[in-house]
Amino acid sequence: MRAVKRAKNGNGGGSAAVSIDTRQREILRLLWRGGRMSRWELHRRTGVNPNAVGTDVADLMHQGIVRECQSEVAGPGRPRIPLEIDPTVRYVVGLAVSPGRVEAGRLSLRGNLLGRPLSRSTSDPSKTIAAAQALLRESLTDQALAIGLSVTGFVDPAQRAILYSSSFTGQSSEAVALAPLYDLAGDRPLILENNMHAMAAWWLLVHQAEADEDVMLAGINDGQMGGALLIEGRPNRGCVTGANELGHMRFFIDTDVCYCGHPGCIERIVSTEFLRRRGIQHGTLMEHASRYGVDDAPHLTNGGAAENKAIEEILDYLSAALANAVNFIRPNRLVLSSELTRYPEFSDALLRSIRARLLTELVKRVRIDLWDHANSHSAEAAGWLALASLYREGWNQKTAEHPLSASAAGASAAPVSAG
Ligand SMILES: [Zn+2]
Repeated sequence: MRAVKRAKNGNGGGSAAVSIDTRQREILRLLWRGGRMSRWELHRRTGVNPNAVGTDVADLMHQGIVRECQSEVAGPGRPRIPLEIDPTVRYVVGLAVSPGRVEAGRLSLRGNLLGRPLSRSTSDPSKTIAAAQALLRESLTDQALAIGLSVTGFVDPAQRAILYSSSFTGQSSEAVALAPLYDLAGDRPLILENNMHAMAAWWLLVHQAEADEDVMLAGINDGQMGGALLIEGRPNRGCVTGANELGHMRFFIDTDVCYCGHPGCIERIVSTEFLRRRGIQHGTLMEHASRYGVDDAPHLTNGGAAENKAIEEILDYLSAALANAVNFIRPNRLVLSSELTRYPEFSDALLRSIRARLLTELVKRVRIDLWDHANSHSAEAAGWLALASLYREGWNQKTAEHPLSASAAGASAAPVSAG
């Protein structure tokens, strides 16, 4: 078993922990991004003196995170030994809590899924944490470096709790304690985030987005929608850790009542149930989106006219929601993560409609990317949270700014700023 280094800044319990400091993280970021680099190149890229780079590299090698490759002869003098991320020794664990389901998987430090993720259905929300605990226990060995835990809804990493989540509907309004999972994690960092930010972490590391770009990622599923906002490569913090609740952007239109308690939410509109309201008796949203714009479908009503009309109504609201969000946030990129991006007629119409609604100056600047990851495992995305904490600053936030929990108990009113 490998020795682990003492945490440099004692975190209360003074526990031993694998410790990556900012300077080492910069080395890892460069190796992740650039592939192989020698100590000398790392010194040149970081501006850190060669001795300190040597010490950091030795420490990262000792921890099993970095390894040496075969040396390259680069002119006279000592051959330079390239270094790379070591995918063979350590791994990270992704643990995902979704409505009715818990999933755990392992990823190599290069982001490859190791084996099939474990999963359990949990029809009873009161047993969800116990199920997650069992899966996490099965996934951990001494080689596990960090854990990414993704949850739907709002979470509080400082209080180690789930505050409000579609995965725990029917529960009392009490926060769900995550202490059993933190206890199992022990000294390993556990990165608790919303599942949309887990997707955003994945997108960020795979696409090597410029660190200074702001990215808005929208995940669109049948009856479920969420957003994640990255500011300079970090999740925006806000007043609570969660997704950017794009799905609950509301319109003045009749829909089923959303789990948030209101009608008119965009995620109630972009759904199969909304098609039923429009008299489309058969087929899911995805099936109709896949056939959208395809001429002469004789098995459908009037060759598909009613279906196309309903899909166009959905397109209209969806593009309005996305364009409003982009106009408001003005990100460098909008990333659409959805199975819907597979259907060219549908996604072309969506992109046209979004662009038509963006402010002129934004149309020229915002990049819109399509990213189809609908069939990926939720545990895999959660694992990328752990990788993001290795390769990027700002992902392992232990203490969220939390003015409400910090305010005196018994304070009856929400804080109001004095005009
Ligand atoms: Zn809602």
